[in-house]
Amino acid sequence: MNYISTRGQIEPVGFKDAVMMGLATDGGLLLPERVPTLSAATLDSWRELSYQQLAFELISLYATDIPADDLQDLINRSYATFDNREITPVVHEDGVYILELFHGPTLAFKDVALQLLGNLFAYLLKERGEKMNIVGATSGDTGSAAIYGVRGKENINIFILHPHLKTSPIQALQMTTVTDANVHNIAAKGTFDDCQNIVKSLFNDLPFKEKYALGAVNSINWARVLAQVVYYFYAWFRVTDNGGANVVFSVPTGNFGDIFAGYIAKRMGLPVSKLLLATNENNILTRFINDGDYSLGDVVPTVSPSMDIQLASNFERYLFYLFDENPARVRDAFVELTQTGRIAFSSNELARVREEFLSRSVNQAETLETIAAFHKATGYLLDPHTAVGVRAAQELVPADATPVCLATAHPAKFGEAVEQATGIAPPFPQALAGIDRLPSRCAVLEADRTAIKAFIEENAL
Ligand SMILES: *Cc1c(COP(=O)(O)O)cnc(C)c1O
Repeated sequence: MNYISTRGQIEPVGFKDAVMMGLATDGGLLLPERVPTLSAATLDSWRELSYQQLAFELISLYATDIPADDLQDLINRSYATFDNREITPVVHEDGVYILELFHGPTLAFKDVALQLLGNLFAYLLKERGEKMNIVGATSGDTGSAAIYGVRGKENINIFILHPHLKTSPIQALQMTTVTDANVHNIAAKGTFDDCQNIVKSLFNDLPFKEKYALGAVNSINWARVLAQVVYYFYAWFRVTDNGGANVVFSVPTGNFGDIFAGYIAKRMGLPVSKLLLATNENNILTRFINDGDYSLGDVVPTVSPSMDIQLASNFERYLFYLFDENPARVRDAFVELTQTGRIAFSSNELARVREEFLSRSVNQAETLETIAAFHKATGYLLDPHTAVGVRAAQELVPADATPVCLATAHPAKFGEAVEQATGIAPPFPQALAGIDRLPSRCAVLEADRTAIKAFIEENAL
């Protein structure tokens, strides 16, 4: 399987090169040359597979340049760090199915993709005799998942900047208590935007980028999307085993990565009725689906911070399909966005969007209300991101359909909001108990490009 760019200006590359490339070199995003479609018989033959076996069947359709034994081994090792035998179990509460994606080491769904990406990087670097210094900025969540993805791996160092004392204490601890020699936490005395700007400027410093083989782990790597396709299939089997029909997946959305994986699953032939795109007050994607209004606004901070995003980086992949795989139309759309702050769509295009997607924006009051009401009805605690998806499903999923809500974080990870809604501080799972007593390591530096560049030079591979 070869990979092409949404902007159409690269030569096709294989899976391994696509993983190492991340962002396409023409500024677009990589996609498989064609999305394989599955027969009903193939689907049926996968129903009894374990998560790891299913992941192998799906990923091997796309990672055709990795030998089968190596791929199964990479998958098995990636999910050995999860605390549930089913990896992504499905529970049934109050008429909705909850797909629990938070059983990985950092208690959020990004582990599903980043555990695999870390192992893939280590495997490919070893094969190529290369090294990589990953540099990234985080406001909390992605940083810890990336660190856990590569801790202790050979030929990889990781430098994660977070704003000093501006993440939640637990988020900082989840990063700084990883004391493996290849992990370098940097607390920069500034804001998240300062951190992100410093990282951007380091990637734009081409001699520096090349000398230290800088790598990124942002949500645009194709391998991350691919890893997430698996749990849509896994959940669909569990729900239909139980008699569920007309499945609607409700997905709390920020960068459009998770829901795009659902779109790929549907395109492969998984019988999904609709994808429900749930947003918080940062609702550009809801405005797009419901009103055809794709215009940038300001980012509003909410109780579901991992969805506080305006420009969803993976949205370009969907546009490529909406525009009938025409890269010239994608390029024009992004020129239009840069020049006018919006993209306009034809009524025919919007009709096609609405064949696939439903959407609802859920505000903070509704989010907290949903956490409280759901807990009262079932005893189950929803994290605020998951609650956005549950509320959207309660309001939009028709009576003859089966809602499956993606639970993207463990409630303890966003315990303050959960406690505000219910009066209950959700207990941490065993893995995090006592984390505040563990040894930690973190460099506290000025939010200054020169200081941070010097620190990386000193500690890089
Ligand atoms: C990243 C994240 C999301 C949003 O996922 P996208 O792939 O960016 O749409 C939702 N919930 C949680 C807890 C997250 O960490």
